[in-house]
Amino acid sequence: MLKPSSPVQYLKGVGPAKAEVFQRLGITTVMDLLRHYPRGYIDRTTVSKISSITPGQNCTVMGTVLGFQVRPTRDGRRDFILVLTDETGSVECIWFNQPFLQRVFKTGLEVVVSGEVGFYRGKQIKNPVYEILSREDQELIHTGRIVPSYRLTADIGQKILRRTVKRTLESCVPLLRESLPEHVLKRRNLSGLQEALRQIHFPDDWTAQQKARERLAFEELFYMQLILARRKQRAQEPSRALAFSTDGPRFSRFLETLPFQLTQAQKRVLEEMRLDLSSRRVMNRLLEGDVGCGKTVVALAACLMVADNGCQAAFMAPTEILVEQHYATACRLLKEFDVKMAALYGKTRTRAREQIPKQAREGELDIVFGTHALIQEHVQFARLGLVVVDEQHRFGVLQRGALAGKGIFPHTLVMSATPIPRTLAMTVFGDLDVSVIDEMPPGRRRVVTRIVEDGERAKVYEFLAKKVREGRQAFVVYPLVEESEKSEQLMAATEMAQHLSRNPLLRGVRVGLMHGRMKSDEKEKTMERFKTGEIDLLVSTTVIEVGIDVSNASIMIVEHPDRYGLSQLHQLRGRVGRGEHESYCILIKETETGGDASRRLGILANCDDGFKIAEADLAIRGPGEFLGTRQHGLPEFRIADLLRDGPLLSLARREAFLLLERDPELSHPQNAPARRTLNELKDFTATLPAA
Ligand code: ADP
Ligand code: MG
Repeated sequence: MLKPSSPVQYLKGVGPAKAEVFQRLGITTVMDLLRHYPRGYIDRTTVSKISSITPGQNCTVMGTVLGFQVRPTRDGRRDFILVLTDETGSVECIWFNQPFLQRVFKTGLEVVVSGEVGFYRGKQIKNPVYEILSREDQELIHTGRIVPSYRLTADIGQKILRRTVKRTLESCVPLLRESLPEHVLKRRNLSGLQEALRQIHFPDDWTAQQKARERLAFEELFYMQLILARRKQRAQEPSRALAFSTDGPRFSRFLETLPFQLTQAQKRVLEEMRLDLSSRRVMNRLLEGDVGCGKTVVALAACLMVADNGCQAAFMAPTEILVEQHYATACRLLKEFDVKMAALYGKTRTRAREQIPKQAREGELDIVFGTHALIQEHVQFARLGLVVVDEQHRFGVLQRGALAGKGIFPHTLVMSATPIPRTLAMTVFGDLDVSVIDEMPPGRRRVVTRIVEDGERAKVYEFLAKKVREGRQAFVVYPLVEESEKSEQLMAATEMAQHLSRNPLLRGVRVGLMHGRMKSDEKEKTMERFKTGEIDLLVSTTVIEVGIDVSNASIMIVEHPDRYGLSQLHQLRGRVGRGEHESYCILIKETETGGDASRRLGILANCDDGFKIAEADLAIRGPGEFLGTRQHGLPEFRIADLLRDGPLLSLARREAFLLLERDPELSHPQNAPARRTLNELKDFTATLPAA
């Protein structure tokens, strides 16, 4: 007896050779085959009478084979001709150059064909899809119905796949156990697994197909959310956390000493974090906010709160330049307080490089800044209470797991400069609590965004030169491209820098260059010269290094803007407009850039709400591209689609979290399907972000 877990090889008509082909489609077991959902469908529902078909339409007809022949053509083709008849008349079907079909058909066979009607000495159906109706099995598979169409690989065709799926549905599906708890199905009015599998492959009609899809997509989203809910539940087990007092001496004074007032949004987020840190649950929080909204100061406040309690904080950023910048900010904002801080980055001298880890280990440092190497490698902490991860999306999600793996459970705050659309946040960061800073500090100016064509460069340069004479500074950014193109890109940027420094329109403008191949101390030097105003115009290939705060820089020029996602462009744009000067973002697009790309860029020019831009970006590029890194931590869905299933995802999330809240161990008999399915989902779990 075949079980869902049996290898497909034992299915009728498969065997070892075919099983290998199936393997290439990721199909190993019977269940894999059933979960190989159609990629699309062809509607061949309506069967027409032969007399009623007309040239130009697509039709499906059913009839008896009256006769057939192979007809050679003048140009050497050997066409197969078949005459089909029903009670209303007969029609010729033609398959160009497929003489072997004469071995397939027999006079008198019942056949269904679907194809386009042409006219050649009478009506003719051209290259139709056909299905021979066997006596025992009168049910149609390939035509005369909504026909599934599958993702294929070499050596396997639609027909074989359809037939194998159909047989398997008949033989194995009745044995399948339901994978969702009955009460969830009832409450959400979802169909059962058996019915859904039948209807997803061979739907009776479109309504049935939709209902099946909904059920199967729900299931996928539900289990993803259940895994995240469990992870969150584990992380929050009370005994593991350090509870802090949140009115320590330094923290309380910190807000008063700031050179500015926190925005309402910053205050609210700080309050959310205070609650976390004072509870006995481990904080796992994502802090989202548009670029420039002031996340750093909020994170520093949290670090200070932790330091007040005699614990340590690790503050991580993706690049050394950002580490340096955060460290400098912290030194400035915390200078009145007796906080012991250190940063590990390129410039750190060898002696300090050895000393800092030692001091961290012995508990002499309150806050340590560094790249992610800080946690991953040798640095240990005496009393690590908080980990701050800036620009989380650049780290890749996986590193979140590194800490828990060491058996450390500090509070964690991850920050993302790219607003993440809700559906993605629920997926990739679904085990985190989310705080949002949705307000900008007062006095921010809207960055004037212009899309110009390559041919208008001269005007851009004149404008640039004028602004530099007024004392402003500018960035020119070259797109971050694939590893393989890196050297070309480097050349382009280097040439660009040379071209700009020689350009007569830019006489007197001091040009600097920064690219990914430079050593970190060279980068730092260049950055320093830009900050101190020795460089007016910084040409850069690396977007990340521009994640910096230079308030005198008021012009951002982006080359090849069409190669970026909208969110990235928005983030680049956020690098200017931080000071008191009117700021500009100029996108120089190639002249041949198509209408789509122009429309996309137009969204950016007309909108400066990072969340709205992120939604648009997600819709245009899809989730994987949006997140951008290979380690983006997106589970691979078979049928759910984050773009269209947002509401279903919310629903699945609510159900999953509710289920776990009411039955934390999933021990109630009615939740047995959930417990069982979760155990079977090991492969799926592996595609989720690390715990
Ligand atoms: P991001 O959220 O993009 O990381 P930053 O934390 O770098 O933004 O803050 C951007 C700038 O805004 C910094 O120079 C910071 O000092 C300043 N800033 C932060 N909060 C406020 C505020 N409430 N009022 C005025 N300026 C602020
Ligand atoms: Mg930042």
